[in-house]
Amino acid sequence: MTQDLDNLLEYSVPELVQWCTTLGEKPFRAKQLSKWIHQSGVADFEAMTDLAKSFRQNLQGKACVKAPPIISDHVSKDGTRKWLFDVGQGNAVETVFIPEERRGTLCVSSQAGCAVNCRFCSTGKQGFSRNLTTAEIVAQLWQANVLLKADGREYPQERPVTNVVMMGMGEPLLNYSALVPALQLMLDDQAYGLSRRRVTVSTSGVVPFMDRLSQDCPVALAVSLHAPNDALRDHLVPLNKKYPLRELLDACLRYLNHAPRDFITFEYVMLDGVNDSVEHAHQLADIARHVPCKFNLIPFNPFPESGLHKSKAPAIKAFVDVLTQAGVVTTVRKTRGDDIDAACGQLAGEVMDRTRVKERIETAVPVEVLKRSAKFRN
Ligand code: SAH
Ligand code: SF4
Repeated sequence: MTQDLDNLLEYSVPELVQWCTTLGEKPFRAKQLSKWIHQSGVADFEAMTDLAKSFRQNLQGKACVKAPPIISDHVSKDGTRKWLFDVGQGNAVETVFIPEERRGTLCVSSQAGCAVNCRFCSTGKQGFSRNLTTAEIVAQLWQANVLLKADGREYPQERPVTNVVMMGMGEPLLNYSALVPALQLMLDDQAYGLSRRRVTVSTSGVVPFMDRLSQDCPVALAVSLHAPNDALRDHLVPLNKKYPLRELLDACLRYLNHAPRDFITFEYVMLDGVNDSVEHAHQLADIARHVPCKFNLIPFNPFPESGLHKSKAPAIKAFVDVLTQAGVVTTVRKTRGDDIDAACGQLAGEVMDRTRVKERIETAVPVEVLKRSAKFRN
């Protein structure tokens, strides 16, 4: 019965070593196993030909490598690909692959729903359902590599996904204990082997966990700023009431002492008549004088219930000009995958309608979702 099997996607490499030790296997066996799973994308233990037969049989009865069932898989005209995963009990999360000339970026979800409830975010509007497990976070990367490799295209690197951004559904730092082992797997040379610069955590500003991340796993950091002052940020990102700008910016400075890049990326969704005036841009330029940063302006992806609109092109241009003249590197994010609702903040689009998701889940092949707590974690 699969219920009793341990999903090995749950374990960081040191945890897998420990897991294998309890089976009486040597540490190097765990490393071989990890490479088969994460680097070769193999889930069938019998296909792991250099593992001893006895070990394979042992694995067969105790473990599995399993991603949540896929509800839908769409490819956009621009090559962006989006998967919707069924994580059980009517919950679904999305993962988006964005191919570029020399890299492939995977946008990964960390929670089903989100409790932060930013005004402009459809995931927030959906409310919070639950944290994803490490296995569910890692499965998005594992499954994307497997499926992309099978699509017959040429990729510039050995594995299609070269960069990961934790910018899908959910607030990654509010799912810290599952996030860290997932990040460790992304970085581990026996697993995905991505450099710390190629893995980005995006946060709405959960200050205490920014500090912990700087100690435990200092990957690149993006901070969702969206407003240059507390009054406006309180309104757009309610978490600001708990961790106001001063504290957030101090935390950014502390993070930079450990970060793999010498700047923080500030994300800023451009909302017509709300946060997009020239005055706002000047206030941001003041912030940038204190925190080494780059700005990534995100065109707002509207959804009906938000009551918000995207900024007009001349407003965006004037905004960029102010920041650039102040010496702040500023980019405007290209919108990708529009035709399949894969752009930022649209990720929950399909999920919003719970009935439709439920129908689709019911018609999908039923494969049980593994829910387990990690044995080797405190
Ligand atoms: N919770 C984390 C990461 C997920 S959201 C965070 O907030 O940073 C990833 C990015 O998408 C964030 O910068 C978020 O502000 C942005 N976003 C959310 N809704 C959006 C929308 N409707 N249009 C454009 N960007 C949006
Ligand atoms: Fe949550 Fe990020 Fe959406 Fe805010 S923008 S509600 S933190 S997912």
